[in-house]
Amino acid sequence: MSERREPILCPHCAEPTMPNRLSDGLLVCSCAAERPLPEPPPVKD
Ligand SMILES: [Zn+2]
Repeated sequence: MSERREPILCPHCAEPTMPNRLSDGLLVCSCAAERPLPEPPPVKD
């Protein structure tokens, strides 16, 4: 299982951001705010 890390548009900051997976499983934006992001839809290849 590979997790893709592609830039997304942060819904909080309205800027392109790289989702950051924290050790506790929470997905946050890489902006200074580090706000929680909604889970991206699973990618099936
Ligand atoms: Zn953000």
